[in-house]
Amino acid sequence: NAKEAGKGKYVLFDPAYLRTFNERIQLETQLRHGIENKEFILHYQPKISLRTGRIMGFEALIRWNSPALGLLAPLAFIRIAEDSRLIVPIGEWVLAESCRFAAQLQAEGYGQLRISVNISIVQLMQEDFVDMVLRILRNTGLPPEHLELEITESVSIGMVAPGILIAKLGRLQAAGVHLALDDFGTGYISLSYLQQLPLTTLKVSRSFIAQISDQGDDRSLARAMVLIGRRLGLNVVAEGVETVKQLEHAKQSKYDLIQGFYISRPLPEEEALSLIRSNKVYKMC
Ligand code: C2E
Ligand code: MG
Ligand code: MG
Ligand code: MG
Repeated sequence: NAKEAGKGKYVLFDPAYLRTFNERIQLETQLRHGIENKEFILHYQPKISLRTGRIMGFEALIRWNSPALGLLAPLAFIRIAEDSRLIVPIGEWVLAESCRFAAQLQAEGYGQLRISVNISIVQLMQEDFVDMVLRILRNTGLPPEHLELEITESVSIGMVAPGILIAKLGRLQAAGVHLALDDFGTGYISLSYLQQLPLTTLKVSRSFIAQISDQGDDRSLARAMVLIGRRLGLNVVAEGVETVKQLEHAKQSKYDLIQGFYISRPLPEEEALSLIRSNKVYKMC
């Protein structure tokens, strides 16, 4: 199990194994227990300003510490959570927990920080989604400007009527919440639709950053992505920066923020806190 595998190690868990109906039902049951027993944890990955080298925020990333299955990455259970709609209570917990952490950071005087929370389209389509977000902000005392919601550009975003999505995001934006399109460039969104969405940030998919490597060095798309973001007046984030070469490229291409293993892996709350309290400034080449 995860304890034997050692701290920070994930159990190898291939979602492809979840072929059979029974296996899915079992996982669903375990997810329900996981919610009741509070088995989920959040890790926080810093986002760094390329201009100043300072930490501007964290992305909250869920992990499931299941006594039965070990420590699981989101890939192993988010799809099942979405299909079973258990993502609704799980996602509400993620949001509340992230906002609590961010409010604590605000209280400690780190006024520049923003917390980014991944939102599933299944959550977004809940009738009371916007009210839920605003309620959590009130309850935790986090100013809305310090929350960013990340919505993945996936097939599912195309399944929602544009008018409804634009209206919901518009309400959130009017309240001051920041909105990011995640994994940009991998989905099916048209540029004219993109232009209509009330976004503040584009997160360019890791796959474009990964094209800058020792095997090959294709910078064209990673560069084009940042230009699209600029033209739309958005902040642009490079995710998945793993090497100094990719960092240099992100800087040359004038990305605003970078996120990736080169700077830091996602960290447990205590380590994220120590990192912030150390007032670290990263050298951006
Ligand atoms: P994402 O939102 O695109 O998050 C970035 C993922 O890339 C994270 O994986 C992160 O650990 C990983 N990553 C960061 N830097 C690097 C890097 O330099 N190299 C590589 N190879 N990977 C890097 P993680 O934590 O496994 O999460 C995977 C996905 O699961 C997320 O992708 C997001 O779509 C989803 N997810 C995570 N937490 C939540 C959540 O609370 N709710 C929902 N609905 N989805 C979540
Ligand atoms: Mg994300
Ligand atoms: Mg992403
Ligand atoms: Mg993703």
